[in-house]
Amino acid sequence: MSTETKATTDALKGKRIAILGYGSQGRAHALNLRDSGLDVVVGLRPNGATAATAKADGFSVLEPGEAVKSADLVAVLTPDMVQPELYASAIENNIKPNAALLFAHGLNVHFKMIAPRADIDVILVAPKGPGHLVRTEYEIGRGVPCLYAVYQDVTGQAKAKAMAYAAGLGGARALLIETDFKEETETDLFGEQGFETLVEAGYKPEIAYYEVLHELKLIVDLLYQGGLTKMLTFISETAQYGDYTRGPRIVDADTKQRMKKVLEEIQSGEFAREWKAEYDAGLPNYKRLKQADLDHPIEKIGAQLRAKMVWLNQAATAPVAPALKKVG
Ligand code: NAD
Ligand code: MG
Repeated sequence: MSTETKATTDALKGKRIAILGYGSQGRAHALNLRDSGLDVVVGLRPNGATAATAKADGFSVLEPGEAVKSADLVAVLTPDMVQPELYASAIENNIKPNAALLFAHGLNVHFKMIAPRADIDVILVAPKGPGHLVRTEYEIGRGVPCLYAVYQDVTGQAKAKAMAYAAGLGGARALLIETDFKEETETDLFGEQGFETLVEAGYKPEIAYYEVLHELKLIVDLLYQGGLTKMLTFISETAQYGDYTRGPRIVDADTKQRMKKVLEEIQSGEFAREWKAEYDAGLPNYKRLKQADLDHPIEKIGAQLRAKMVWLNQAATAPVAPALKKVG
């Protein structure tokens, strides 16, 4: 497994790409790939929610099955939970032998809810950002880092196709990280649930970093701009289902009980007295705990990855004076 930033779109030049779904990821992929000089059609239900948007953006919009028939690469960018039905109704009997079937999340293939035909390449390209950032970074001449993976390679070109697609999205301008369907799926689903837990379970720290730390800002920005409503509009249905059902198992009644205890320590003055004693003693615990944060493995991998994300480096040189003033 390797990291690659010099990939080009060559393996897809002159090939037809069908984008199924025109939501958060689908629209960004279609626009970026077209602007990268590739041949893109969009496959949608004619009266679906996004067909008009795709037409207004200048794409030919075909029925999903028709788009698949014409394509050398089919990107499945509908919500995860409609993909098995879409595969059965529009893809399985229409996709050309030796064509590539591409996903932006490995869930259906990894958990065998889709069993792809044996005569096609099956690949994954997952940008580590929401569609609007995939598009705006591309327009500025940059890119959002992408994971890529090969599940099935019948042509010997599967990896080249995945990397060319990621390059067409602009991802190669930032960072391409090779993974496999299992790693992408399990880390993405576990997502916001802990860097240490993932790394201790054997997943790559680069991938754990994106899921746990990097994506936190994307989520917090949505919350900051528009509360839960905006956040829930922009994350996938799969992410929402995990939030609704797994979140309460992590932050549960015991967590709330511990928060209540911490609040009581503040209210009683216990926290203030402890903090004053710590300060007067020369901050031994404060310094030790702070150093442990600074030495945490997430900081070492994070510094390497952040160096590749140009927009972050620019943000760091923007005026930050108010933030330098200590608060709280
Ligand atoms: P979305 O919900 O934003 O878009 C769904 C699109 O599919 C829309 O165009 C919708 O009209 C169409 N659609 C819905 N039902 C359909 C059906 N039955 N037949 C045909 N088209 C149908 O989806 P998204 O959030 O972009 O997710 C797409 C894929 O990308 C998923 O696999 C998801 O896990 C993955 N992904 C999403 C993000 C993200 O930030 N949203 C990031 C990485 C990967
Ligand atoms: Mg995720």
